[in-house]
Amino acid sequence: MFARLAGLTAAVAATAGYQSMSPTGRWYGPTFARGIRGSKQVALTYDDGPNDPHTLHLLDVLAKNNVRATFFMIGRFVHERPDIALAVAQAGHTVGNHTFNHPLLTFKSAAETRAQLLDCQQALQDAIGDHSNLFRPPFGGRRPATLRVARQLGLQTVMWNVTGYDWNARPAGVIAQRVAGQMRGGDVILLHDGGHRDQGADRAQTVVATENLIHRYLDQGSNFVTIDEMILASRKKQKVERAKARR
Ligand SMILES: [Zn+2]
Repeated sequence: MFARLAGLTAAVAATAGYQSMSPTGRWYGPTFARGIRGSKQVALTYDDGPNDPHTLHLLDVLAKNNVRATFFMIGRFVHERPDIALAVAQAGHTVGNHTFNHPLLTFKSAAETRAQLLDCQQALQDAIGDHSNLFRPPFGGRRPATLRVARQLGLQTVMWNVTGYDWNARPAGVIAQRVAGQMRGGDVILLHDGGHRDQGADRAQTVVATENLIHRYLDQGSNFVTIDEMILASRKKQKVERAKARR
């Protein structure tokens, strides 16, 4: 009995741990992780920039293909390179909050979380002015207090449902292949234009993989959107469905 109970407790604890990091888990409150399943919308998202020179190379690839993406920036790096942050915003991409120096928020108090979010907001405000209300927690780590603080600050927490596994500079072909294997339509793809430890992380392979993915999905008739556009489309659909249900 005790053994069984212990086993059960361990299973619950493991699930709780998994849920606190799982990009699509909803135990710890609602987050936005993907658009309408099966739709033609695809959202490319890039974390941990701005990062010289790879963020700028990425901007070239996106501009060449007329694709808009979403960038979750680290406040500390924005503070160091406001020029790159501004270039991203001026190119028409959506810019969101990825905390000031990338702590795992699962272990941070509400006050520390609040300071991390506000400091990043301020860095973004100084560099680019008004920007989106989107926030992505570092490592996807969160707990109820994290989401509550974000909500209190008017921020929408954004996760992802497709992982690029590009953080240790895998070859571009591997990154693109991994992504392709997870695509279901209406996907939010997690990639990195920087590295959270320092500026200068090598993201050349992510830039190449991005170009591969854009060509592949444009050929299939996909429509690349920013996260705010994807949220808008999802809300519209929910509204229509609710109206239908009432009839
Ligand atoms: Zn990150």
